[in-house]
Amino acid sequence: MLLYSTNNSALKADLKEAVLKSLAPDKGLYMPEFIPTLPADFIQALPTLSFQEIAFEVAKTLFQGFIPEADLKTIIERSITFAAPVHMLDDRAGSLELWHGPSLAFKDFGARFMAALMSYFNQGNDKKLSILVATSGDTGGAVAFGFLDVPGIEVTILYPKGKVSLLQEKQLTTLGSNIKAIEIDGTFDDCQALVKEAFLDKELNAVYQLSSANSINIARLIPQSFYYFEAFKQLKSFGDEIVFAVPSGNFGNLTAGLIAKRMGLPVSKFIAATNINKIVPDYLVSGLYEPRISISTISNAMDVGNPSNFARMFDLYNGDVEAMKQDMIGYFVTDEETKTMLRDIYDKYQYVADPHGAVAYKALAFYLEGHPEAVGAFFETAHPSKFEDVVNDALGIAVEIPERLAILASREKQATPMRADFADFKKHLLSIV
Ligand SMILES: *Cc1c(COP(=O)(O)O)cnc(C)c1O
Repeated sequence: MLLYSTNNSALKADLKEAVLKSLAPDKGLYMPEFIPTLPADFIQALPTLSFQEIAFEVAKTLFQGFIPEADLKTIIERSITFAAPVHMLDDRAGSLELWHGPSLAFKDFGARFMAALMSYFNQGNDKKLSILVATSGDTGGAVAFGFLDVPGIEVTILYPKGKVSLLQEKQLTTLGSNIKAIEIDGTFDDCQALVKEAFLDKELNAVYQLSSANSINIARLIPQSFYYFEAFKQLKSFGDEIVFAVPSGNFGNLTAGLIAKRMGLPVSKFIAATNINKIVPDYLVSGLYEPRISISTISNAMDVGNPSNFARMFDLYNGDVEAMKQDMIGYFVTDEETKTMLRDIYDKYQYVADPHGAVAYKALAFYLEGHPEAVGAFFETAHPSKFEDVVNDALGIAVEIPERLAILASREKQATPMRADFADFKKHLLSIV
């Protein structure tokens, strides 16, 4: 399997290089050179297949033999370890719950699959694979759980002291094993600067194979296409015209859906749902891509003013906005509407959504109203307890924190305190080789 850079289609890498390096040397994003289609009888057979079987077939088809089948099976069995159920609210709309993983967010799928692939590709390398991540909270948790106990990989997470929530900090600092946390006396930007400098340092690169768990890594995108097939399987009996409403920030989730469609999944429409950071919905109307400074909202995982995966979407359609509009429609939702939706979903269906899911629900409801034959799912990208302040406030209840997260509260934090100083950071990394 070969991939090319979105900046230069002549610049190619194989899957191993694309996964271990994340970014192309010219800073472009990797895209598969060829997106193969699945046989039509695979789509027919979906209802007879388990989620893991579906994931295996999709990955096998995409990878084109790059990873032997037995190894690929092991990778899938290690990473696709929790369900992606569609909880139907009525007979036309359901919630695709993507939060059944360890950190309670859909990012668990990407992080776990990336960890399994990196571990596989680093076998036989005499340098230990060291993942450095700077986090302002959320991504760090998914990465920490995703790489926990993965053989041959050490993870170092840098986070800014006093700037992440208590439970987020517990996710980063209590897992132990191969996950190490450094609490930086500084900002998120300081953390990121230290990581960037480490990647350029000769001595560190001599002893470690350094990698980032970057969100633009193709290995994070690929497993996200698996659950579109899994959701389609569950929606099939409700109608033939199936749509997905995807709450979007950097548009990794939505891009994975577009790839699933290219592989043959007959999705009628993708609804790109955003908050007021509506760069892509605007693009779908005007044909002009105008990145902006992001605006803070209550669905803050989508506060993105220059979505990184836009380059991949643009590439998939060769820059033809009319072609993109055949597959996709944009919709944006304000904070006020989001709160109203959280309440409406609860009052009408006794279902607790999170702010990101509520944005997608509103977009889906609007679409279904205008398309009487359509049925669809909105993506619940995080468990509501991850945004308990907003949810409790909107619903006037206290949402339950799932056991697997609550249990961390009583565990002891283990983090190395450090100044935001590269010499200290480097000395530390060299001392733990
Ligand atoms: C990351 C995230 C998103 C945005 O996903 P993209 O793939 O970046 O579009 C939406 N909701 C939640 C809860 C997230 O954590």
